[in-house]
Amino acid sequence: MKPKVYFKTFGCRTNVFDSQVMMSALRDYDLTEVESDADIVVVNSCTVTNGADVSVRGYINSMEKQGKKMFLTGCGAHTKGESLFEAGKVQGVFGQSEKMKINSLLSTPNRFYEMGDLNYIDDAIVEEFVGKSRAFIKIQEGCNFRCSYCIIPFVRGDARSMEESQILEQVRRLAGNGFGEFVLTGTNVGSYGQGDKRSIATLMQKMSLIRGVRRIRVGSLEPIQINEPFLEILEEPWLERHLHIAIQHSSNTMLKLMNRRNRYESDRELFAMLHHKGFALGTDFIVGHPGESDAIWEEAMDNLKGLHLTHIHPFTYSKRDGTPSATMKPAVNGTVSALRMQQLNGIVHHNNYQFRQHHASLPLDVLVESGGEGIYTGLDQFFNKMVIRSDEDLSGNWITIHNYEVENDHNTANL
Ligand code: SF4
Repeated sequence: MKPKVYFKTFGCRTNVFDSQVMMSALRDYDLTEVESDADIVVVNSCTVTNGADVSVRGYINSMEKQGKKMFLTGCGAHTKGESLFEAGKVQGVFGQSEKMKINSLLSTPNRFYEMGDLNYIDDAIVEEFVGKSRAFIKIQEGCNFRCSYCIIPFVRGDARSMEESQILEQVRRLAGNGFGEFVLTGTNVGSYGQGDKRSIATLMQKMSLIRGVRRIRVGSLEPIQINEPFLEILEEPWLERHLHIAIQHSSNTMLKLMNRRNRYESDRELFAMLHHKGFALGTDFIVGHPGESDAIWEEAMDNLKGLHLTHIHPFTYSKRDGTPSATMKPAVNGTVSALRMQQLNGIVHHNNYQFRQHHASLPLDVLVESGGEGIYTGLDQFFNKMVIRSDEDLSGNWITIHNYEVENDHNTANL
C-alpha cells in the first residue's frame, strides 16, 4: 500500500495551481483529500501577512501533534522555512522551483532544506484540478514592482512569463477534460509578456478559440496594465463582466508612501469608464498602513465613492520585516484599523447590493461550483454569488438564470 499524501494549500490562486502541479507529479504515493488519512502532509504556505505566517505555524504545530510527517514549500518556505527546519518541525523544506521533484523529495531519507532557483520558469502542465470546477492557469510569476509594504517580490522573484504555447496547451488539456471557466493567475498577472511584446489580451483572444472555453477571468490587474490591447477585448462575450484591479488605496498621499505606480485621478477615470460599460469592479485595499491619519482616511473614503467598487479584498496592514514600510511611522492602532475596515466593507457591500438590483433584469450565467441536498452555489459573470434551490444535482453545470431574487449578500433562484 502506497503512503497517502495530503496537500494543505494556503494563500492565493498561484499556490492552488502549484499544489495541483505537485499532486499530478506523485508516483509512489497516493493523494488523499482527507487530512486524517494522510501519512504525509505537504504544506504549501503563504507569507503575505503576519496572519498568514501565524496560520501556517499553527497548522504545522497541530499536524505535529498528530504525528504527521511534514514538508514545507510555498512563499513561507523563504521567510519561515529555516527557523521551522532548525526547530525540527518539518522533515524537508523546498522552494517552488523544486516542486516537480516532489516524488523523490518525499522519499529522501535525510531531512533537507532545498530552496532552488527563485527565478525559475514553470513548465508544468496539469490535466485536472482536484475538487474544483474552474481552472486556474498560471501564466506569470514574480513581480518587478516594489510596493513598500510587500514581501512578495522577495519570495516569488522577478516577473517572468510562461511560454504562450505551453499556456495554450494547458488550456486545451483542461478544456478537453471538461473545464469551461479559466482564471488567469500569477504574482502580478498583468505583467505577463512584458519585455517580449506579448500581451495578456492577445493570449486571452487565442485562449477563447479553444473548444470548450466559455469564460475567462483575470485574477488581478494593476491599473496601469489596462492598456490599448486590453481595452479592445472589453466587449468579448467570453470575458467575465467583472474586473479585479488592485489600487491598494484611494489617497495619493498613501499611494506615494506605498511606492505604488497608480494615482487616484487616473484610477477614477479608469473605473468610471469600466463602470459605464457595465462591469462589476473589485480591488485590493490596505487599511492601516503607517502614516494613514484620520484626515487621509476621510479623503480616501470620499475618493472611494468615485470608483463604483462592487467587490473588495481588504487587508489590514501587516508589517513585513525587510520591507521599507516596516520602519515607517506613525503606526495605526488595531482598533482604528478595524473600524476603518468595517467602514470600507460597508461602502462596498452597499454598492454591490445596488449593482445587483440595478442589473436585476439581466440573465445571469452561473457556473455551479458546489452544493448538494437541494442547495447549490456558483458565481455569475459579475462574480456575484448565486444560491440555487433544486432537486436536480447541478454541480459543475453552467446555467443561465432569468428569474431570481436579489438578497442582501447574494442572489437566489429556484429551479
Ligand atoms: S504589485 Fe506590489 S503588492 Fe503586488 S506583488 Fe508586486 S510588490 Fe507586491
